[in-house]
Amino acid sequence: MTMKCVKCGKLAKRASLRIEGTTVPGWRCSCGEEYLDADAAERLLALRKLDRQKLTAKVTQQGNSFAVRLPMALFRALGMKDKETLGIKVDPSNPRSFTLTLY
Ligand SMILES: [Zn+2]
Repeated sequence: MTMKCVKCGKLAKRASLRIEGTTVPGWRCSCGEEYLDADAAERLLALRKLDRQKLTAKVTQQGNSFAVRLPMALFRALGMKDKETLGIKVDPSNPRSFTLTLY
């Protein structure tokens, strides 16, 4: 897959771009011009917006387990899918905190 550089007209190649400490997919031209992947740019903007909000999640019982209800904005910003499996990491030194990871 290629993309034509708007600045010089050459073909830009797929590249991982570093944007404010985050690696996002995009394109880089030999002239030095860089382009963010459209989906990645949208997601990055959504994540920045979420970073400024106080997010909460509600725990609800569902049969013999509990579901954590995530805000839709978070679900969309992370590109999550319904029925997706997440990793859970518990920190024994901080029993009031845990981390969820997308595979
Ligand atoms: Zn170029």
